[in-house]
Amino acid sequence: MNRSYNPLDFEIKFLKGVGEHRAKFLNKMHIYKIRDLLEHFPRDYINRKSKTKIRNLELEERSSIVGEIVSIEKRNYGNKKSQLNVTISDGKDCLLCTWFRFGNWFLKQFEIGKKIWVSGIVSEFSGSPQLIHPEIEILEDEESKESFWHSRSVLPVYPLTERITMNTMRKLVYKAFDLYHDEIEETLPEYILKKYKFEPRKKALQKIHFSKNLYEIESLKKRFAFEELFYNQLMLARSKYNHKRKLKGYQFELKKTFTTKLKNSLPFGLTDAQKKVIREIVSDMTSSHQMNRLLQGDVGSGKTIVTLFAMLLAIENGYQSILMTPTEILAEQHFRSIKKLLENQPEIKITLLKGGNYKGKKETKEKIAKGEINIIIGTHALIQKDVEYYNVGFVAIDEQHRFGVEQRAFLSRKNKHPDLMYLSATPIPRSLALTVYGDLDISIIDELPPNRKSIKSLWWNSQKIDLVYEDVLEQLSQGRQVYIVCPLIEESEKVDLIDAESLYERVRTKIFPEFKSALLHGRIKTSEKDAIMEDFQNGKISILVSTTVIEVGIDVPNATVMIIEHAERFGLCQLHQLRGRVGRGTDKSYCYFIGYPPISKEARERLSIMVETNDGFKIAEKDLELRGPGEFFGTEQSGMPNFRHANIVRDQDLLKQARVLAFDIIDEDFNLENPKNKVLSQNYFNIYYEKEKLFDF
Ligand code: ADP
Ligand code: MG
Repeated sequence: MNRSYNPLDFEIKFLKGVGEHRAKFLNKMHIYKIRDLLEHFPRDYINRKSKTKIRNLELEERSSIVGEIVSIEKRNYGNKKSQLNVTISDGKDCLLCTWFRFGNWFLKQFEIGKKIWVSGIVSEFSGSPQLIHPEIEILEDEESKESFWHSRSVLPVYPLTERITMNTMRKLVYKAFDLYHDEIEETLPEYILKKYKFEPRKKALQKIHFSKNLYEIESLKKRFAFEELFYNQLMLARSKYNHKRKLKGYQFELKKTFTTKLKNSLPFGLTDAQKKVIREIVSDMTSSHQMNRLLQGDVGSGKTIVTLFAMLLAIENGYQSILMTPTEILAEQHFRSIKKLLENQPEIKITLLKGGNYKGKKETKEKIAKGEINIIIGTHALIQKDVEYYNVGFVAIDEQHRFGVEQRAFLSRKNKHPDLMYLSATPIPRSLALTVYGDLDISIIDELPPNRKSIKSLWWNSQKIDLVYEDVLEQLSQGRQVYIVCPLIEESEKVDLIDAESLYERVRTKIFPEFKSALLHGRIKTSEKDAIMEDFQNGKISILVSTTVIEVGIDVPNATVMIIEHAERFGLCQLHQLRGRVGRGTDKSYCYFIGYPPISKEARERLSIMVETNDGFKIAEKDLELRGPGEFFGTEQSGMPNFRHANIVRDQDLLKQARVLAFDIIDEDFNLENPKNKVLSQNYFNIYYEKEKLFDF
């Protein structure tokens, strides 16, 4: 069907002029194969014939000018500071370019009379236009007369890395294109190109690197973003349909025994959102296909009860239920709260399976294997080879982005096809959910339980901490409890940050000596942790000084105050998750974000957002926007596809279109056998099929 290789897949080091050494630096920019180099797009273009006049420059606008160097002046100040002023002329007016940091090598490239391109944001200096730290390129420098680029009026400006100069990059791209353009395959079928008015792949690539018509570049690039999103969605669509058609799941029956008993034992009614989500889950679990569902809801929206409801549905049908968490603390927390919720159903046996060897583990495992235990909670200890289950019917995976796809696959392959539910501790922005979890059905609890009092959020500078303590003292005196969160466990020589151990000492002896406080962090022994948590839960401890271990799961409604030290150092979702520990009861709660100067512009923006809103979905969107998709989950295993061209924040519309198209195609032609999808089929089964298999569990 296909040739077994394509030269575009050759390693980049084999391209003439690259070699082992340069290849290493190209790899750093994710250029591994020749095809990657062809997809290394310019981030800007230099128009040598640019007609932009210095006279017409607009203040604050990003602008480029081609001109001639007319003066170079280096000024030295005291204490080793210096300034470089280079003036360029367009024949009529002058533009001052200024640098405050520069090396000798940088200075040396300027020569009076040379033609230069400069690009930057226009500012003003005593009435004349100025660019501060502009990007520059000396034109006709180094280029030999034979170079392809010598005669070009438009030059691409590529993203670079150390040891690769702009000239080298241009030469390499040209060489790759020159040698291999015949090998560039089309990846989108005719009917899609037509529908979206996209250029064929080869032509689009050629124009992006070598076109003179800069106005068409944006629409050309769109094709590549679309293509990435489309294949991502094609894979997710196939995975989803696979589950629905191939994988027979258990067909449970809503027996209304344990489930109803749980419902009746709650001291409150379920919210409409919880009811709606439970209906979605029940309808999935009572059907014959395997459930594959993501459960989302803001902090405190009541996901635990919904999850437990699903667990009990499997259990009342005679099956076991599993809950897997990324950390032991979280497992312990779930264990505690589920135990409490099942206090009046002692016939349901729950266990916590921990990692490592400990007394009683062997017996626990035997009981699990014999089916004497109904609910098993734990970390990846649950998927060790030596753990055998009797009959797992339902698996919940908490914060599943912290697990690798392989781990998830392993968990369900061990068993038949239990119903799966993924829990997310904080909301995931829609565009991200669609690209990472686009093969799952999604349930959202979009409502908080009633009579939750709002949380008053305040951002204070560290110098004013005493005022915060005064407020907090008042709360403590009224019998409320307090969390104080620090970024470090113990004092560090490397960074000057407040650590939990020293702060705990001060809280205990100086700040609030009349109240009982405790220290909690990840290095404290489990038995001790349990005791502390229990004492905090029933009010024996008033102040808990901790690290971010309390970020997830802890639920103490009487704790109404949180102080977050060095709030400037935490990400938005983390701050939101932390803040979610308060405001869980019916009393008004307070969250103090303590910032330690200097606070960067981004940190300032984060803190303003935190003070402004308590809506987890809004905060998540903002977090994605500020940090980008790669960082959002804060872990390498997130399963986040590495898009080269698409940006899911910017390309949300494109994503929607790609998703609809991909799902329609798979709906109609699951195996891509229709002749009109030949191009898709070739490309998909060559490149994406391997990845799809990871989802096939
Ligand atoms: P999260 O979604 O953050 O996991 P939890 O499931 O831990 O939230 O629930 C947070 C708190 O709200 C718990 O104390 C829980 O008992 C309580 N809760 C859950 N559902 C309701 C409800 N419908 N009405 C009142 N309180 C509820
Ligand atoms: Mg929870």
